[in-house]
Amino acid sequence: MNIEYNKSLLELNSFHLNEYATEFVQVQSEKDLLEILHFANSNQKEICIIGGGSNILLTKKLDALVLHNQLKGHDIIAENEEGTDVRFMSGEVWHQCVLWSVEQQLGGMENLSLIPGTIGAAPIQNIGAYGVELKDIFVELEAIHLQTLEKVCFRKEQCGFGYRDSIFKSTEKTATLLYL
Ligand SMILES: Cc1cc2nc3c(=O)[nH]c(=O)nc-3n(C[C@H](O)[C@H](O)[C@H](O)COP(=O)(O)OP(=O)(O)OC[C@H]3O[C@@H](n4cnc5c(N)ncnc54)[C@H](O)[C@@H]3O)c2cc1C
Repeated sequence: MNIEYNKSLLELNSFHLNEYATEFVQVQSEKDLLEILHFANSNQKEICIIGGGSNILLTKKLDALVLHNQLKGHDIIAENEEGTDVRFMSGEVWHQCVLWSVEQQLGGMENLSLIPGTIGAAPIQNIGAYGVELKDIFVELEAIHLQTLEKVCFRKEQCGFGYRDSIFKSTEKTATLLYL
């Protein structure tokens, strides 16, 4: 766990605002994630998650432990006549996953190409474009509860998806780190 102090977030937000984080960590594995969350809870530190930084507006120094989500990887987990289920880790760049799915001739994500940001942020506002929304192709996500550090699973019907909306903007806002 490599904590950086007084870290500039200039390169990590679309507006390129040069605001700083009091503490900053790159999270590259589930082990890193659990270790840093345990450290944050034991020391009562506020956590702030950054994915692609395309939907944040930094107006002042972030007096928090900022986790930069770099959890990468994807697997095909099921294939049958109805379709193919793919599991993407939450730090993957959304658009790169769309390109990969097109290369694999897997239909469904293509209307959502070029939406900036990460896989992990996509369920929060149920990203959408050109008549398709994440919920149309989404099966479930796994997350880590920020306080209990337990793994939790949310199936589509539990996510409360609406137009650019989900429970991750309201009741589950501060409770979960998405990392499917
Ligand atoms: C030019 C442009 C075009 C866009 N076009 C569209 C569009 O067509 N359709 C659309 O729906 N949206 C669009 N958006 C919005 C943006 O793409 C989405 O909101 C995207 O999901 C943000 O992803 P991100 O990884 O950059 O999130 P960030 O900006 O890094 O984070 C946004 C919020 O989500 C939280 N967060 C991020 N990752 C996680 C995680 N793993 N767990 C818990 N919380 C997390 C952060 O703490 C923050 O509060 C556009 C944005 C821009 C700048």
